[in-house]
Amino acid sequence: MRKDIDTKYFKNKLAEELLLVEKELNDIGRRNPDNKNDWEAEPTVMNQDSADENETADNIEEFESNTAVLKELEIRYNDIKDALVKIEKDEYGFCEVCKAPIEEDRLIANQAARTCKEHMQ
Ligand SMILES: [Zn+2]
Repeated sequence: MRKDIDTKYFKNKLAEELLLVEKELNDIGRRNPDNKNDWEAEPTVMNQDSADENETADNIEEFESNTAVLKELEIRYNDIKDALVKIEKDEYGFCEVCKAPIEEDRLIANQAARTCKEHMQ
């Protein structure tokens, strides 16, 4: 466990962000009933009577862009969840690659950071 950083501060920030991300996920997607860490975009409702080709194309486009946004949000959601689990286990703030303590300014910029600056990619 790290004594040099204020883990409680990071925990609060993470908990706040988790709620926001969860809300966004629920706005544009629905949780996969078989895997609660997985979301899928709501299929756009097609109105058979009024659907013309343009509308269908718009719907498909919207579904695809929602799917892309969901994917990003889902990654963020899982990063935050993992960071909170690490806090519970007193393992927060260490690089997943080299196990070194993650720089504090990096954690301030991204509380869910998994790696130190050297191993960012
Ligand atoms: Zn590292």
